[in-house]
Amino acid sequence: MPELPEVETIRRDLTKHVVGKLVQRVEVRKAKLIQGSRAVFRRALIGARITRVSRRAKQLILELSSGYVALVHLKMTGQLVWRSRGGMLTVGGHPIISVNTVPNKFTYVTLRFSDGSALFFNDVRQFGYWRAVPLAELAVVHAHLGPEPLSSAFTPQVFWAALQRRGRTTIKAALLDQSVVAGIGNIYADESLYVARLRPSRRVASLRTVETAALFRAICSVLRKAVAARGTSFNSYVDGLGRQGTYWERRLVYGRTGEACRRCGTLFKRTVVAGRGSHWCAHCQH
Ligand SMILES: [Zn+2]
Repeated sequence: MPELPEVETIRRDLTKHVVGKLVQRVEVRKAKLIQGSRAVFRRALIGARITRVSRRAKQLILELSSGYVALVHLKMTGQLVWRSRGGMLTVGGHPIISVNTVPNKFTYVTLRFSDGSALFFNDVRQFGYWRAVPLAELAVVHAHLGPEPLSSAFTPQVFWAALQRRGRTTIKAALLDQSVVAGIGNIYADESLYVARLRPSRRVASLRTVETAALFRAICSVLRKAVAARGTSFNSYVDGLGRQGTYWERRLVYGRTGEACRRCGTLFKRTVVAGRGSHWCAHCQH
């Protein structure tokens, strides 16, 4: 599933293409991919302009002139394809499906704009979703989410306080908990723990203040670097010009089982923590 850096990359690219566009038609081929009322969904979108594309955690938010927002979650296999009137394609999301033609048999939601361009949502496994909510209710919808780690709301104090509520769990589970910090998944949890030299299986309550501070700094630096690299391309992003996110080549520990740690030369291990495959160095992560 795309994590914060991948969704942020898609947000930036979509912004260039869809902001200012007027939605003329909405086509839904699979009702289950629309959460809530389909009538509200259509009313929110048809005749509205997209005023901004924002993001919260791993969710894209199309802000609309109708006073609504359309939330989009790509989940396991979702993909957004923007096609210009002239046929140029820009893809954001999982590059699993050949997008030489859109719509195709995996296209379930289409927004057609008044200038002849269109936004297609493809999803092989159909775990993704769209949902329209009034802008005024967005804060309620997102009330369960912790702070955005790249925003000023994320401070060492806020992070420490959130961890206190999860004292009995492992630090890996706490990082995956979207109420502690929003947008981190398996890849960036492992990367952050490696930078902070903490074992994924450490109990939160055992962390010393200095370790929590190191983890805070690690999360910020890992996510900033990943956003700058346009995310991790292996499962999440490729665009219409063939550019890929380059974080995959730069990753420090995730998916490197059996390779040598750059800090100490010990071979990385993979164990299951919090139900997820976790990659770490048994020598320099404590
Ligand atoms: Zn090591």
